[in-house]
Amino acid sequence: MVGRKNQEEREVMKVHEYGDCSFCQGEVKEARVELDYRYKGRLYVFQNVPTGVCQQCGEKYLTARIAKEIEKKIQKKKWAKTIAVPVEVFTEEASV
Ligand SMILES: [Zn+2]
Repeated sequence: MVGRKNQEEREVMKVHEYGDCSFCQGEVKEARVELDYRYKGRLYVFQNVPTGVCQQCGEKYLTARIAKEIEKKIQKKKWAKTIAVPVEVFTEEASV
């Protein structure tokens, strides 16, 4: 067992070097975007992150290097700011 990382914690992002999109085969191009990053059950927002974005479906991809950087920053617990996020359980209402 050589330091194999628990992949289950990444709910949104798949980590890989940018190739074609694994969902739609679209072209993935790098852009600086805002990322919602879930780690150990908590939500973090990172801005200005170099991220692969599928030009067709918008799926986002991180390289292993950037994902590692993000997790390092999470462990440091130093933030530019903290925001409150509203949470609501969705129920359908009869009004149309
Ligand atoms: Zn795609």
